Amino acid sequence: MNRSRSFANVRQCATKPSSTTSEKHDSDPSQADRIDALPDDAEDWPIATAAASLNRRRFLKLAAIPCAACALAACLPPGSSVSLHASLLPQSDDAIEARFYDKLASRNVQCRLCPRQCVVANGRRGYCNVRENRGGTYYSLVHSRLCTAHIDPIEKKPFFHFRPGTLAFSVATGGCNVNCKFCQNWEISQIAPEQLRRQYVTPSSLAAAAKQNGCPTLAYTYSEPIIASEYYLDCAGAGHSLGVKSVFVSNGFIRGEPLNKLCDRMDAIKIDLKAFSDAYYREVVNAELRPVLDTLVTIRKRGVWLEIVYLVVPTLNDSDGEFKAMAKWVKSELGSDVPVHFTRFYPLYRLKNLPPTPVDTLRRAKTIADSEGLHFVYVGNVPGDPGEDTYCPRCQHMVVERTGFTVRRLQLKNGRCEFCQQPVPGVWS
Ligand code: SF4
Repeated sequence: MNRSRSFANVRQCATKPSSTTSEKHDSDPSQADRIDALPDDAEDWPIATAAASLNRRRFLKLAAIPCAACALAACLPPGSSVSLHASLLPQSDDAIEARFYDKLASRNVQCRLCPRQCVVANGRRGYCNVRENRGGTYYSLVHSRLCTAHIDPIEKKPFFHFRPGTLAFSVATGGCNVNCKFCQNWEISQIAPEQLRRQYVTPSSLAAAAKQNGCPTLAYTYSEPIIASEYYLDCAGAGHSLGVKSVFVSNGFIRGEPLNKLCDRMDAIKIDLKAFSDAYYREVVNAELRPVLDTLVTIRKRGVWLEIVYLVVPTLNDSDGEFKAMAKWVKSELGSDVPVHFTRFYPLYRLKNLPPTPVDTLRRAKTIADSEGLHFVYVGNVPGDPGEDTYCPRCQHMVVERTGFTVRRLQLKNGRCEFCQQPVPGVWS
């Protein structure tokens, strides 16, 4: 079975989304081709390639039957995946009641999911545009509503210390609770959910799809998963029941209560620390720095595996002083073992006036963070750069060699350096 062609029906965005706001994903075309789960010939959405042996009428009829996965499994030829069909459950067009909100007087509600804490009048939506007040009850409009899915290397998220060399079944709903001027996935993040063509995918169907496609991990990524927390909490629970782990790729702009719920369920979290300046957060991101720092501390305290990405944007967050201050803070508040990825910016969306980040700037950032005592500092979006590799903090031997998203060599045994037996922090199996 060609796994990369088997789950083919939930893409909507015009371009393949990046795993992070920073990622230039097509730098390795051969690999990009291998990992794309959604072929370009799936334009007859939601009918897709895995159903090639079924005609359209037959397929739609079957897809309308509850427990469609079971029905279709019996119809498909041997070797075909049923993951596509498992997701084609009947469309339930209604939203589900949100968690993390308070009811107020006069049928108003106050969202408690992210630090904006939007007060929303009846019939209106919060800032993220995916949570709606209907008669004094708050609803999520994105539960079980995927707009994209791909099978990616886990390194693309990026996670460098979490199950290296494995695949992540990577999905997104529409929407975001911030508005980064450099967003590389703005076609799905800065849009109302009903403007996206979406697919109804229950948590159990999603978990089954990941497993059937040989992905040991579900990744909630591309857009901002916080605003679909209810869905992803359910997905993570469903995944665990099938032995599939979950990783959350986020801006970290979330309140404490929902974050703790996520920490109960997620196996790893990657946070975009977009700068170490509140002014940058206010002007470029339309958010605040402090809640993101609090999120990082909470994740670390909860013991969930954490990696940080810092997108280096020329002239805006690339000073030596800012790199140094950030590295000092990471070391003192989170510890030396949290991986930090300095990644390359490419001009897109509303920051097309700036050039791509010079590679020398990324190397300078790494040198500064290394010298502050961080053990695992990486250069990102520069395939082939030596800054992609992992070195044992004790004996300095290379223990993971990477090129782009590909792991070339892994010299760890049971999470220890093969040369000196030093434990290397991470989730290695
Ligand atoms: S999650 Fe959305 S609705 Fe809730 S506070 Fe944040 S922006 Fe507002």
